Amino acid sequence: MEKGTISVQTQNIFPIIKKFLYSDHDIFLRELISNAVDASQKLNTLVNKGVIKSEIGELQIEIIADKEAGTLTIRDNGIGMTEEEVKKYLNQVAFSSAEEFVKKYKAENTIIGHFGLGFYSAFMVASQVEVQTKSYRKNAKAVKWSCNGEPEYEIEFLEGKSRGTDVILHISDDSKEFLEDARIEELLQKYCRFLPIPIKFGMKEHVEYEGEGEDRQEIKTEEENIVNNPHPAWKKSPRSLKDEDYKKFYEELYPFSAPPLFWIHLNIDYPFNLTGILYFPKLSNSFEIQKNKIHLYSNQVFVTDNVENIVPEFLMLLHGVIDSPDIPLNVSRSYLQSDSNVKKITSYISKKVAEKLASQFKKDRDAYTEKWAEISPVVKYGMIADEKFYKKAEKFALLTNTEGEHFTIEEYTEKVKEKQTDKYEKVVMLYSNPNEEQASYISSAKAREYDVLVMDQVIDNHFMQNLEQKLNNVVFVRVDSDITDNLIQKDEAKESSLSEKQEERVKALFEGLVEDSGNRIELKPLSADDQPVMIVKPEFMRRMKEMQALQGMGGTQFPDSYTVVVNSNHPLIGEKLLKMRSEEKKANFVSYLYDLARLNQNMLKGDDLSAFVKSSLEFVS
Ligand code: ADP
Repeated sequence: MEKGTISVQTQNIFPIIKKFLYSDHDIFLRELISNAVDASQKLNTLVNKGVIKSEIGELQIEIIADKEAGTLTIRDNGIGMTEEEVKKYLNQVAFSSAEEFVKKYKAENTIIGHFGLGFYSAFMVASQVEVQTKSYRKNAKAVKWSCNGEPEYEIEFLEGKSRGTDVILHISDDSKEFLEDARIEELLQKYCRFLPIPIKFGMKEHVEYEGEGEDRQEIKTEEENIVNNPHPAWKKSPRSLKDEDYKKFYEELYPFSAPPLFWIHLNIDYPFNLTGILYFPKLSNSFEIQKNKIHLYSNQVFVTDNVENIVPEFLMLLHGVIDSPDIPLNVSRSYLQSDSNVKKITSYISKKVAEKLASQFKKDRDAYTEKWAEISPVVKYGMIADEKFYKKAEKFALLTNTEGEHFTIEEYTEKVKEKQTDKYEKVVMLYSNPNEEQASYISSAKAREYDVLVMDQVIDNHFMQNLEQKLNNVVFVRVDSDITDNLIQKDEAKESSLSEKQEERVKALFEGLVEDSGNRIELKPLSADDQPVMIVKPEFMRRMKEMQALQGMGGTQFPDSYTVVVNSNHPLIGEKLLKMRSEEKKANFVSYLYDLARLNQNMLKGDDLSAFVKSSLEFVS
């Protein structure tokens, strides 16, 4: 047996490994299994290069938990190490890379994938680490290396070991959880699901059925429990995959989810290396953000499900996997933001998504349109957030009208241009939000042969604002933001059937009522078919307020202001109201009309609504 000391440059790193990485203890398993995968793949490479000519057998990694002995073993049948290699790689290379990592970690604290700690992460959970290894080389002697967390190590020769490496962790008392099957299984599922070499963890029951009908028999056998899928879909060539394969892989990633709408297979090796599959999930209209649905891998090793700064924010709604060894994993998040490779990756992903949508739109517009409601939040968000995406999406973003018809922005502009261009030469796009009651406003707009869009998504406010800025010749106006005649401002005035004096009397009757609530009253000569009293909410104020609410700033600066428009040409005003004798009757009548207008805007609630119902009953009885 030989004893030695690992050359310590700074202070002893073992306590630091324990202390600094406390919250991430569980990554030791990923690190050790990654090493085992590397060792297996290196062996494959040597076979492919013709360096090894003999049969190497099937490569496999095995995880063995022995509760009694208190050990967890990571076993591979990869290239193994000679005595010299053990000294070089474990005592020097592994040690100094761990040392470097710890230094970096101390400085940055939020290193993204925690790659780099490597072999020595074993000491986060083990009081003693033993390595038994035999190199693939002819006549190599098997070696046992052991270290108990001090810089001293022991090394000796070993009999009877076959090719490969066993890393045996003597689990420390405060880490006993890592001897529990369930905990190990959890970690294997988290980090190793798609590692390229089969990983075995114990046995599992396999049930088969034999015979038919009454003779049908259940036959239980034991089989190896392979925890990973070494050949995940994203690593395969897109040409070899069918729709079914993509759906199956989605199911594997997110069991029990509704099938995805469509997907994008990313596959690039220059100027950076990136593979992956991004899925458009079935989203509900509510724009719920489910982050952490895209998983970042590096050569099939799970890194993180927090892909902020790598995937453009507007695409965080997508699901799936991206795999890139070119994303620096040993850096902090703030560094990622400025990394030029990461920037290229980000813009590549958003370009790919835009191209996919464009091709879907072109190939089968009906199928695309059917999915529009679900993909639209992503598209709209992308158009707002990313100029380049906007340029492409302009051609496949759709507007939907109250008839359920869909148009591209250009098509829609053409459609409504003639009737809906105002005196400032702007095309006025009328819209409604069916979540609020605007049916009567919509029907009066339609009666004037206007078309009305549906804008009921949370993102729509920003989206419209964005289109107005970019398109320059378009304004969006909600159907209830003014009386219908004024929605599209033209220079045509109607005559009032009331004298100036009569108008003043009407105004005076409403004033008390309306101004109590801090709003304005206006008399307008509309057509006799229009409502006698209408409440309109000026577009600008309302939108500012909604934006404020969205950004969580509360609605205090912009009060819920509206204008009450009294139609001076309506018979109920000229013929009925003005001819009433009793002041009390007038006041009741005015208040009733005002309530009707509020009811029409869904503004009558609680006590006001009960009072309204009560007075309606009095009217009819
Ligand atoms: P890294 O894997 O980043 O190089 P590690 O500290 O994890 O750093 O390991 C250091 C070195 O030890 C590896 O580069 C490899 O040469 C060797 N090594 C570690 N684990 C194994 C293994 N299971 N089989 C063969 N060699 C290994």
